[in-house]
Amino acid sequence: MTRMAQQKRIGILGATGSIGRQTLEVIAARDEFEACALAAGCRWELLAEQARRFGTEAVAIADDSAAEALAAAVPDGTRVFAGPDAMTDLVRATRPDVLVTGVVGAAGLKPALAGIECGCTLAVANKEPLVMAGAIVMPAARAAGVEVLPVDSEHSGIFQCLKAGRRADVRRVTITASGGALRDWDAERAHGATVDEALDHPTWDMGRKITIDSATLVNKALEVVEAHWLFDLAPEQIEVVIHPESIAHSLVEFADGSVIAQLAQPDMTTPIAYALSHPARLPRAGAGLDLAERGRLTFRPLQGRFARAVALGYEAIRRGGAAGAVLNSANEAAVEAFLAGGIAFGDIVPVVEQVLNLAEPISEVTLDALLSADAWARARVAEITRAATKASPA
Ligand code: MG
Repeated sequence: MTRMAQQKRIGILGATGSIGRQTLEVIAARDEFEACALAAGCRWELLAEQARRFGTEAVAIADDSAAEALAAAVPDGTRVFAGPDAMTDLVRATRPDVLVTGVVGAAGLKPALAGIECGCTLAVANKEPLVMAGAIVMPAARAAGVEVLPVDSEHSGIFQCLKAGRRADVRRVTITASGGALRDWDAERAHGATVDEALDHPTWDMGRKITIDSATLVNKALEVVEAHWLFDLAPEQIEVVIHPESIAHSLVEFADGSVIAQLAQPDMTTPIAYALSHPARLPRAGAGLDLAERGRLTFRPLQGRFARAVALGYEAIRRGGAAGAVLNSANEAAVEAFLAGGIAFGDIVPVVEQVLNLAEPISEVTLDALLSADAWARARVAEITRAATKASPA
């Protein structure tokens, strides 16, 4: 591959995860991108393989104990950062043009803010920078003059639809939800769903945590909060509907009643590619849509347990402060508890709701306050799930 004069330098936080691997697929198919920085949590072997394949300048691994093995496995001259600050050091050392954030959890917040400081365009693929820290990230990005581009398919869709009109003429946006693996299950059956059942997503191929979020619909609660921060929308301007086919990712309604929708196959490489190439669009083989062959697209309102889950997002926006961080972290801990067999599938949303209701307002939104809220929420979930396990020893 000949190196192009104007290659865009891409950094990926969470390179070995689902989003990271798909981002590298997009990069591998195009000459105009260079994967200059890759970071992972603990999967050093895959990270080393990626660094060799892409000729990456520098890599970071959060797990200190893997540092030596990683350093031995990457090509000579590749810089290696390790430990809790490794991702931040990596971003500062490489200063990518576009920083793709795809790490689950609060660990990705500091490196994302470091990216903003370094003038990177932020391609946000994880929920945390906006759901937990939208009140810090968005003003910081504005102050630094850097763009925040959504990779989440629904938000990429809104971002694209908004180009059809003036921001002041937007009446509302609609985010669609596939409904997840248990979409057609009644509440009682869904309550006892197993991990395998909840992970069996009909349209999207994603990581485990987000697939569970898709089944509970907490994913949409988080996306409502993301949309609020990204596009400066009031809660009443954001609507969620069930759309099982996952073809229309979102819709924007303007003041004159015109509705612009973004349609695409449910394939994360499409919004990833758009975030990397924006404002250009890359020619991509195989993408595209045959609506006549599809026949029909269906939509229905949120009801019952789904409406209850999505309500958490609106509640977090109304509460402000650290409520987004509490929502995000309580949910992450509750999903972990479910995956570990500690609570039932149907307990995830009630547990998150309970923790969100227990949270005290904070006086000032700082990164430290958000990280404390994160730890607090996780501790509350642990208490609740421990108590639940004791109460029902079976
Ligand atoms: Mg999404």
